[in-house]
Amino acid sequence: MVEPKRQGWGLIGASTIAAEHMVGAIRAQPGHQVVAVASSSAARGQAFAAQHGIAAGYGAVDALLADPAVDIVYISTTNELHRDQVLAAAAAGKHVLCEKPLALNLDDALAMLRACRDAGVVMATNHHLRNAATHRKIRELVQGGAIGRPLFARVFHAVFLPPHLQGWRLDKPQAGGGVVLDITVHDADTLRFILGAEPVEALGFTQTASMAREGLADGVMAVLRFDNGVLAQLHDAFTVRHAGTGIEIHGEQGSIVGRNVMTQQPIGELLLRTAAGEQVLEVAHESLYARGVARFCAAVAGNGQPAASAEDGVLSLAAALAVAEACQTGRATRVANPFA
Ligand code: NDP
Repeated sequence: MVEPKRQGWGLIGASTIAAEHMVGAIRAQPGHQVVAVASSSAARGQAFAAQHGIAAGYGAVDALLADPAVDIVYISTTNELHRDQVLAAAAAGKHVLCEKPLALNLDDALAMLRACRDAGVVMATNHHLRNAATHRKIRELVQGGAIGRPLFARVFHAVFLPPHLQGWRLDKPQAGGGVVLDITVHDADTLRFILGAEPVEALGFTQTASMAREGLADGVMAVLRFDNGVLAQLHDAFTVRHAGTGIEIHGEQGSIVGRNVMTQQPIGELLLRTAAGEQVLEVAHESLYARGVARFCAAVAGNGQPAASAEDGVLSLAAALAVAEACQTGRATRVANPFA
């Protein structure tokens, strides 16, 4: 039997998310290995490579893309860099798993999607939450009719940004900092996944309470209206230490309550409340990131679609940008869905 080709990954960005979650998630895939990392600083690239047992640490993206051992890239630089790096990776014929938000505007995100399509490489968005066993269970119940017609959703995603991440998110608008592009974009993807519906309109207010510099938000409360009539309330923040996270989907015949589920960890509890009473739902937790990478690797091998496609990344960005604009203008803002 012919062994499938081993796939080498190059990391673009010596980032926290790569170190904390993605190197392990890639190494969990049979036949896949992390072979290189590129940083904008050769010293940081080499230090990251040495710390994580990666063969090559480069000081430039071009050098990584020229490395024949690299078949796939994972891009986790700051958000303003994603576009050019995806375009360069596509031109080099590499498959791309890109972090969210894909870009800072929709034109750029669409250009990334098209470049990958034209180059014949797989592009996916690293929306981890739709890989959570909790959110997959909620989707199965909602779409299976367990709560009847869904009417409302509430997302509780106000957290405390840990000190080691209190950098560009708080003081670099040009890097796509701020809570809306960081967290609201995840809420939008998770709700699209659960509801199987598209957000069409947004309203909201942001807050700059204590962490973010003037002009950037560290908290937001927003409402998204979906094309199936669902109204979703979102509360996202970097500044709240003790709220806990959660999601609720309320339908005509029942409610699903998820606690501790807007998180990077494979944890959380689900309740289903209907006329039959309250039921604690069984959830077989698994690593969100490893599952997302597994789906991506399968797509690269020609089997199925990534968990969150490039299109999903475009649509979550469209929703987040509509929230940002609504907050800025104080007016209800249409979500610009380029595929509608
Ligand atoms: P980091 O701040 O850790 O890394 C971003 C960039 O900052 C790196 O690429 C690196 O640049 C630079 N950097 C890192 N450490 C240093 C340092 N000590 N000194 C100077 N520069 C440094 O960001 P995150 O890992 O939190 O986020 C990266 C991307 O991933 C973002 O797009 C974010 O939105 C996304 N993200 C996604 C998550 C998810 O669950 N899907 C979770 C967290 C983040 P260089 O490469 O040039 O060295």
